[in-house]
Amino acid sequence: MTGLITRKLIPVAKETLSEHYDVDENGCWVCKDRFIDKDGYPRCNYKKKTMLAAKWVWVDNFGEPPNGMVVKHSCDNRLCVNPDHLSLGTQGANIQDRVLRGRSARGGDNGRAKLSEKDVRYIKYHSDSSNSVLAMEFGVEASTIRLIKKGINWSHI
Ligand SMILES: [Zn+2]
Repeated sequence: MTGLITRKLIPVAKETLSEHYDVDENGCWVCKDRFIDKDGYPRCNYKKKTMLAAKWVWVDNFGEPPNGMVVKHSCDNRLCVNPDHLSLGTQGANIQDRVLRGRSARGGDNGRAKLSEKDVRYIKYHSDSSNSVLAMEFGVEASTIRLIKKGINWSHI
């Protein structure tokens, strides 16, 4: 688990979320009535934008993550919003973790990944993310992402 930083324990604003999750046997707070995005992560509205519920919980409890850091699940349950199961890591480490866990089943013979329709939908949905971040996530060139966002490539999706 590289790239993790230790966070301080601060009392949790449980009330704000208590109607929106069930606690399972692992102690995970499982989101139950949130919009689930294409990648399986629950999202909520925050300042008129959609935000990963896990990040929202993090911000609510600990404040904005430092630049370049992302909120990660230590319990590997994407629906979980238990602050104790969340940690910060770098975007790179997050991708590394996913690759290690075999989630990024992408990458062809030459190491250049091909995108599926599902990926393209994800990219279009996350068009507010930067081209380079999405490119890194999918193992493609930033120009590929740009063409998708502009509707030049994959315009039928
Ligand atoms: Zn959990």
